[in-house]
Amino acid sequence: TPPTPVALVTGANRGIGREVARQLAGLGHHVLLGSRDPRKGEQAAAAIDPGGERVRAVRLDVSDAASVTAMAERIARETGRVDVVVNNAAILYDSWARARAADLAEVQQALDTNLFGAWRVTQALLPLLERSPHPRVVNVSSEAGSLASMSGGTPAYSVSKAALNALTRLLAGELRAQRVLVNAVCPGWTDTDMGGGGRPVAEGAAGVVWAATLPDDGPTGGFFRDGKPVPW
Ligand code: NDP
Repeated sequence: TPPTPVALVTGANRGIGREVARQLAGLGHHVLLGSRDPRKGEQAAAAIDPGGERVRAVRLDVSDAASVTAMAERIARETGRVDVVVNNAAILYDSWARARAADLAEVQQALDTNLFGAWRVTQALLPLLERSPHPRVVNVSSEAGSLASMSGGTPAYSVSKAALNALTRLLAGELRAQRVLVNAVCPGWTDTDMGGGGRPVAEGAAGVVWAATLPDDGPTGGFFRDGKPVPW
């Protein structure tokens, strides 16, 4: 029997991340549920898997390099391998702000979590991903980061997601030889604290889970919603 796939989901104590963790556990993954607040992580993990066999909380603040290193060391010790990395954690949906008047300290904060967070986590876990027979990286992005439709409204957030999409392309190209499938996924407008309305969280999460469980001949370097390509 093949080994149980190990999946790390960042920002998984609530919202889309928590639902992705729940769905992956349901598909038989061993899920490491990342949360910057360990208590909230434990609560979310217990709500999904009271027995603690399938889902385990991992303390992880993606904006903190030391926290990312500690997480990678812990996973190296405990499972020695990672099959799926879901870079989901994000902040600062800065609605109605204007690029020309943006508070650049806030923009920097958005980049630190939404771009550098995903970059840090992926770099730290690459050695463990390379031990997987079917490695997958999913960067949870947004149509707000699509250059094709960028028209203002959420400048810090949009720039961070456009940059995350660029990172997705670069990593996909570089990691093709190692058979790592790296894709960006927009969950669509989803009813979480960030979305404040929109479709049920199970639907938003399903497109992320799709990219996390692609077959070996699946796409890499793409940008998808609900399993269908969306324009960059
Ligand atoms: P939420 O705001 O509901 O949840 C965000 C999660 O990210 C929380 O668990 C939060 O933790 C975590 N987080 C934030 N900063 C950090 C950090 N530095 N380290 C670790 N975790 C962190 O957002 P959603 O669930 O709606 O969003 C999930 C993803 O989907 C994001 O990437 C978002 O950009 C994207 N998306 C969402 C859409 C929507 O309509 N909801 C639409 C398009 C994209 P804490 O509880 O500690 O704050």
